[in-house]
Amino acid sequence: MMLGLLLARAGVEVAVLEKHADFLRDFRGDTVHPSTLELMHELGWLEAFLGLEHQEVRRLSVQIADVHVRMVDLAHLPTRCKFIALLPQWDFLDFLAAQGRRYPTFALHLCTEATDLLVESGRIVGVRAQSPDGELTVRADLVVGCDGRHSTVRSRSGLESIEYGAPMDVLWFRISRKESDAAETFGHVDAGALIVMLNRGDYWQCAFVIAKGSVDRIRAAGIGAFRERVAALLPFLADRVAELASFDEVKLLSVRVDRLGKWWRPGLLMLGDAAHAMSPIGGVGINLAVQDAVAAANRLAVPLKARRLTTADLQAVQARRAWPTRATQRLQLIMQRRVVGPALESTSKPKVPRLFKLLGVFPVLQRIPARLLAVGFRPEHIRTPEVRAAPLCGSA
Ligand SMILES: Cc1cc2nc3c(=O)[nH]c(=O)nc-3n(C[C@H](O)[C@H](O)[C@H](O)COP(=O)(O)OP(=O)(O)OC[C@H]3O[C@@H](n4cnc5c(N)ncnc54)[C@H](O)[C@@H]3O)c2cc1C
Repeated sequence: MMLGLLLARAGVEVAVLEKHADFLRDFRGDTVHPSTLELMHELGWLEAFLGLEHQEVRRLSVQIADVHVRMVDLAHLPTRCKFIALLPQWDFLDFLAAQGRRYPTFALHLCTEATDLLVESGRIVGVRAQSPDGELTVRADLVVGCDGRHSTVRSRSGLESIEYGAPMDVLWFRISRKESDAAETFGHVDAGALIVMLNRGDYWQCAFVIAKGSVDRIRAAGIGAFRERVAALLPFLADRVAELASFDEVKLLSVRVDRLGKWWRPGLLMLGDAAHAMSPIGGVGINLAVQDAVAAANRLAVPLKARRLTTADLQAVQARRAWPTRATQRLQLIMQRRVVGPALESTSKPKVPRLFKLLGVFPVLQRIPARLLAVGFRPEHIRTPEVRAAPLCGSA
């Protein structure tokens, strides 16, 4: 959506295909980081964006057994917004879609699922798709595969990926939040358990981390046993866990971390999770996908508009984004190996890792994880031009 929008904003004809009828699904994550908010500012949309209902996270802490450790303080970031905005990704996507529709060359096709690539003389020249009106073919100078971590485009492309593995999956559910609850978004690690709680105003969005492949065992033990585990971990939720009436309210999000060796073929470029599936650690996947989109638009808008795109352009996009992706995934893998895996395996109360203790003793150090989390490696900036846009529907 972001790439389609930026290309259309620069006058390139774009068709964005989305297989679902809307963006209203739960698996998407909820964080919009300062690096993405900075892009909204560069586009002149920050005020409108922050007009959407959201919560602002300025500090993050983790509770390890009974010890609270402040991990991240965003107050000193070199960005306009010194907070992470929490809002459902469907609101973010609807916002981007509304901006995209202001440009005459932007087309969003909902309920349209890409099913295969069109190949002529070794070059990708478009996609085959299934729409409510039947099968259609869309020809294009460039196909961009950004269909997520179960990408059809990736599997049809023949591009090869390296799997890095993940020790966990996530159970994703909501529990109501009371005014008297803590305000801060936080994580809690205890013997064999790990939960992350996102303050979403009148409810907690909970990410209960489980050992990979253990969901069948948890379901077999029944919803009552699961409620007890949640309440034992977070006693202040004991009066509310009954809101989880059945496992229908608890969604399984399967975690994987992988990366394509090569992100392109002539006529095709892969971006976002389709090029590099991200672990949920740090909640950076959405922002990394957005950064890919900005880097791609910066490099591709002019050659696409002039219809003189070359494989060197595609190669250049990968060259720009490969390092920040590798570095981010490496940090996620270290956290998986050193913190998440051992916490899930442990049967005794975990100790606070030495590094985390240092963050508590020297708060100035909290600026380092803040910077890595909120801005990341090699932040991108909008370099694409803007053609004339129509005003947003409903605005002057
Ligand atoms: C448990 C979990 C929690 C996470 N929490 C966060 C978080 O809080 N913050 C964060 O930043 N990241 C989070 N992530 C990572 C984040 O979800 C991804 O990194 C991010 O969504 C990638 O964006 P994307 O645009 O590449 O792919 P996606 O967001 O997966 O979007 C792909 C889109 O393509 C559509 N699609 C798929 N196939 C087709 C097809 N064949 N034809 C047409 N359309 C198709 C899909 O419907 C979807 O809309 C989390 C990941 C997991 C596993």
